[in-house]
Amino acid sequence: MYAPAGVKTSTEFPIPDTMKAWVLGDPGELKLKDKSVPVPKRAEVLVRIDAAAICATDLEVIYQGPPGMIQGGLPFNKNFTPGHEYMGTVAALGPGVDEYRIGQRVAVEIHAGCGQCKRCREGMYTSCHNYGLNYGDVDKGHRANGFTTDGAFCEYQVNNVNTLVAIPDDMSDEEGALVVTAGTAMYALTELGGLVAGESVVVSGAGPIGLMVVAVAKALGAQPVILTEMRDNRLKIALELGADFAVNISKEPDVVAAVKKLNGGKGVDYVVECSAASKAVNDAVHMVNRGGKVCLAAFTHDSALVDIAHIVSNNIYVYGIRGEGKSAVHRAEAFMRQKRFDATKIHTHTFPLADLPTAIRYAKDRVDDAIKVVVKAKLNAAHKVAAE
Ligand SMILES: [Zn+2]
Ligand SMILES: [Zn+2]
Repeated sequence: MYAPAGVKTSTEFPIPDTMKAWVLGDPGELKLKDKSVPVPKRAEVLVRIDAAAICATDLEVIYQGPPGMIQGGLPFNKNFTPGHEYMGTVAALGPGVDEYRIGQRVAVEIHAGCGQCKRCREGMYTSCHNYGLNYGDVDKGHRANGFTTDGAFCEYQVNNVNTLVAIPDDMSDEEGALVVTAGTAMYALTELGGLVAGESVVVSGAGPIGLMVVAVAKALGAQPVILTEMRDNRLKIALELGADFAVNISKEPDVVAAVKKLNGGKGVDYVVECSAASKAVNDAVHMVNRGGKVCLAAFTHDSALVDIAHIVSNNIYVYGIRGEGKSAVHRAEAFMRQKRFDATKIHTHTFPLADLPTAIRYAKDRVDDAIKVVVKAKLNAAHKVAAE
């Protein structure tokens, strides 16, 4: 039985020595293997993973590699377990940990910065200068589970206490797995300088993060919130999450003009770009008013052509964000705890962890209009469910 020296366990949460874990082989190749249950070090806990959501970035890591980076290089054939959006139950405490108790349910942030570099000290731990320096002779204490260290597509994982957010009992596992998604939306709005009630926002692209930006922006009092997207089912969800307007860009020859018309002819104060369409960046800088701000929360594969003269002559600010810094996940969880929006509207499917390849196919090919697909280790294959 699992009983590492210095680690506190409980007979109420017996932990096996080994667990099932999906491991990345060649690009796109996942194998289910047995791995040792990891051991928490100082300031770390062992989390039993109860639900993990699949993110578009997981597909990037599994099929392309970056931003996954294992031992300083591509993540393939390194016994690496991907997956980074998850929640679970604290199952064991590393030496000295008293911030959490065994049995407590938690959502987890992805990035545990090193805690000592310039950016970590500023709360920008997703931009840690010691990113990925956690192998060989170098241990800077940095973890980004599912990117530079083992992640969520398994049964247990270690997390630094600074990545944990306690969640209430009435929050479902599926909703708990979406806290970090809402946290990324919150971080985007934080980096834009902190949205002030009554300010206008365009969200381009209704993927999970775009939809959560709509929800968080409305919770913060933005007015109007305009979503641009081409799939009708997602436009409908955006309206349910509080968007004032949902613009189907496939029916609009000039999306910039359409957005301006909805905000009294002027541009909006903020655009959060979540579509990853290369044209969307240039559209975004033309959608904001003079002095407006654009946050890029999705990355394109192609370089985007952008009208720099327009940006400069109109004093437009352009930000890129990575992940969920500055404790944004805590603020997002507070909104969800207070039921200020229903994140479960973006959850469409749940599969057993053992069916991960099916779950990934649903997420990748958007089978059955899939948006957020969740896997659960404890879900029996016979009980796989599609969310209502
Ligand atoms: Zn993600
Ligand atoms: Zn750091």
